[in-house]
Amino acid sequence: MRRPMIKPEHLPVRHGGNRVRIGGVVRGIAADIADPDGWVWALLELLDGSRTTGQVVADLARLHPTRAGTDVRAAIDDLIRAGYVEDAGEPAPGRLTAAERERYGRSKALFRWMDRAPRRTSWDTQLLLSGARVVVIGIGGVGCTAAQALVRSGVGHVHCVEPDVVELSNLNRQVLFTERDLGRPKVDVAVDRLREQNSEVRVTGTRLAVDGPAVLRTLATGFDVVLLAADQPEEIRSWTNQACEATGTAWVHGGYHGPQVGCGLYRPGAGPCYDCARVAERERRAGLPPRTYSAASGRAARTHAANAVSAGVAGQLAAHATLSLITGAPALRTNCQYGFNLVTLQDSFAIGPDAPRPDCPTCA
Ligand SMILES: [Zn+2]
Repeated sequence: MRRPMIKPEHLPVRHGGNRVRIGGVVRGIAADIADPDGWVWALLELLDGSRTTGQVVADLARLHPTRAGTDVRAAIDDLIRAGYVEDAGEPAPGRLTAAERERYGRSKALFRWMDRAPRRTSWDTQLLLSGARVVVIGIGGVGCTAAQALVRSGVGHVHCVEPDVVELSNLNRQVLFTERDLGRPKVDVAVDRLREQNSEVRVTGTRLAVDGPAVLRTLATGFDVVLLAADQPEEIRSWTNQACEATGTAWVHGGYHGPQVGCGLYRPGAGPCYDCARVAERERRAGLPPRTYSAASGRAARTHAANAVSAGVAGQLAAHATLSLITGAPALRTNCQYGFNLVTLQDSFAIGPDAPRPDCPTCA
């Protein structure tokens, strides 16, 4: 690192005379550092990008002569490893044009803020996105929002898969479509709209119904991440899981159960797969008293309860999970599902078994 600098989003705050908080106020990023004699605060102030590491060590020695240079270098290394430091002398991102740097400047700042991994340059996350290929399966409420977020974020290639045409009942939530699109194939409209949003991204589409694991396996082979935004046929998540386990492709699902929205993200080999969670859930339910459902219990599913908010939040969560799989910023826990309750705006949770199941039909 040429000239270490605390990231602008992580600048420290001194609390009283003996404690420093670095990383702002967001949980998961911020950390408290004990600093009884003030040398940590002095070090952080010197890490302003105007000095080499050697100059920082020399300047700190003048302010705190009793502090050993090896301690100071070790502290700088710790701060770099913790993701709080970037290089003010970083090389220019040669693979990004001036227009791309302007377009993605705010994205870069957000990734840098969420990122706790040391990077060669502050543009590394954007470069990872521009080299990534994502297939979005299902361009409905979740898929419209997710595909739009990926395209606007600069994912290099976004491929859309969807069999249906635009209907009036779609327009309350499927944000890529308008009244003049009624009757047109959704995939054609989506590709047109997405290309208008970002001509730097390669956007393609296929009008196709997913009818089994074989077609998913073919799709998964050509892409870095599969984003499943369809919930039909009923087995489609399990089929996607099987296809992605077989091809080693990371995948994400996004969806909702009425006001409960959620997403799941999976990296084959990195932990329990989607079907491991199904096995664990079956086992959990087997230990509970038997349930009796109302004779009319299918009625709620047939209402397809959703609006632009519920489908949109699910789509945004799925896009966020996809960007995390590609960039590692933030480094979300994988191989589990996340949920969020729109009724309380409070209950968010992550669920899934801690380890792969030896009796899993897919990954064991
Ligand atoms: Zn499994």
